[in-house]
Amino acid sequence: MTDYTAVLIDFGYILASMLFIIGIKMLGRPERARRGNMVSALGMLIAVVVALLECCLSFSLVIGGMVVGALIGVIAARTIKMTSMPQMVAILNGFGGLASLLVGWENYHSSPDGNSFVIFAIVLAVLIGGVAFSGSVVAYGKLAERISGRPIFFKGQKVVNAAIIAAILICGVLFAWSPTATYAYPLLIIIIGLSLFLGVLGVIPIGGADMPVVIALLNSYSGLAASAAGFIILNNVLIVAGALVGASGLILTGIMCKAMNRSLANVLFGGLQTAVSKAGTDQVQGEPSPISPADAYFVLEAARSVVFVPGYGMAVAQAQHAVKEIGDILEENGAEVRYAIHPVAGRMPGHMNVLLAEANVPYEQLAEMDDVNPIMDSVDVCVVIGANDVVNPAAREIESSPIYGMPVINADQAKTVIVLKRSMAAGFAGVDNPLFVKPNTRMLFGDAKASLQQLVSEFKES
Ligand code: NDP
Repeated sequence: MTDYTAVLIDFGYILASMLFIIGIKMLGRPERARRGNMVSALGMLIAVVVALLECCLSFSLVIGGMVVGALIGVIAARTIKMTSMPQMVAILNGFGGLASLLVGWENYHSSPDGNSFVIFAIVLAVLIGGVAFSGSVVAYGKLAERISGRPIFFKGQKVVNAAIIAAILICGVLFAWSPTATYAYPLLIIIIGLSLFLGVLGVIPIGGADMPVVIALLNSYSGLAASAAGFIILNNVLIVAGALVGASGLILTGIMCKAMNRSLANVLFGGLQTAVSKAGTDQVQGEPSPISPADAYFVLEAARSVVFVPGYGMAVAQAQHAVKEIGDILEENGAEVRYAIHPVAGRMPGHMNVLLAEANVPYEQLAEMDDVNPIMDSVDVCVVIGANDVVNPAAREIESSPIYGMPVINADQAKTVIVLKRSMAAGFAGVDNPLFVKPNTRMLFGDAKASLQQLVSEFKES
């Protein structure tokens, strides 16, 4: 490689890293998010081209891998339903972790006499990559309902976890001490096996409403593993990109924990189970008051201010366009319309923002939980569209509730609440919701999209 090419490659990596950072910055504002994505994708394209220039493998192998990977990615992305996105994100995180694990494993296999720093990076890549992979597979299973979504505990779980971590540390030190010894390779295999086991044990006790936190955390792990892999193969852009994913995943984990008023330790080490076991089942008493679309029309027609609170059910019903349509009608009717979005509404961070953006809801009509709660008691009608946990007043009112302390949108404080859902079934956290039996709440039972379309017809017919 000439000096000129080497400089060009370094320049390409710096440019790609800058584009990643600028792209992430742009993702912070909904109106610039789409362009931010494009900027980061351009950075990735540059990184791939430069990596190919620097590549020591044959081009045909790399291009063959890219074609197969792209094919699987396109088919998966095209066939996956929007409501299944979280499990898709979980499994993609897992593949990132697995890739880093394989880079570490292969690198040791081909050159076991690397310097201590590289050997240390190999241990980190297989450890973090292994945990990210098996943990993500379990998270995928829980979210896709292939395995039970409830937290799974067994006696002595923490002791077993501590013993595994201690065993990994001991094996890691012995391995790094003498990587060329005959026992080193079996030690690496043991580290890989224990890391995979640790990932499974780390995620099985997490369940219910805590899943968003674990997805964000696994995302961070896959980034850290990629960064370690970058140190192994001395690829600057992989180090930078991995560190960015690791850091942003950790920040997102912090935001999620804050949104649910939980500490990370509490989420990871089974706070929910303690709460679940304490929760009573008889805390929600009273009968719901159903309302027909025709009567809901009269309530909404008279309203001067309306707040929509979308949740997972809006995604299931694909009701976002119908929501926008009714929102526009209400505005034309003279009402002030807002859409209040809870940070963990739906099944992935930003789920509701994405759906409402798809329906062209103006960004200025979106309101965050902290902005809408103080004014909720002055709102005429709060329309809850397939949201449940994120509007559950038990989080404020019932101390023994598993979600007690989680900040929620105070829909119940509006003058009238209309809840669109199909039944009295609980939400993701499996907790009863006293909002549905409050005196100011009316239940509009049915599929959210069908109910909204009926409401639109009522307005049009009038
Ligand atoms: P919930 O899961 O609490 O409730 C959704 C409600 O939608 C259900 O009660 C269901 O009731 C209703 N629903 C389902 N389909 C339809 C339909 N076709 N029409 C009308 N209603 C429907 O959702 P929330 O958004 O309130 O809360 C999100 C939950 O998911 C939180 O517990 C959060 O912690 C968790 N979570 C969030 C993630 C994230 O990153 N955002 C990731 C993973 C989990 P019914 O069956 O009666 O219709």
